[in-house]
Amino acid sequence: MDSGNPIPAPESSPLASWRQRWDIVDERVSCRVCTASHSVEDARKPFTHHHGCSAASVAIQLPMLELAKVMREELSAMS
Ligand SMILES: [Zn+2]
Repeated sequence: MDSGNPIPAPESSPLASWRQRWDIVDERVSCRVCTASHSVEDARKPFTHHHGCSAASVAIQLPMLELAKVMREELSAMS
């Protein structure tokens, strides 16, 4: 029988890499550097960091959609 233990993600997995940059607090994705956050409803809006955040980039950041993509990859890796 399945023990119910989660399958540990490798340190180098896309999910682990996502988790190094982002956190999830109360259904919001938050930047680990500046703690700016946005909600599930904002998933399609570019993430806005607090002024001067070192994790901000010129490229549009969509952490919620990125997480969804990573999760899909995790799922397909399991099958
Ligand atoms: Zn930030």
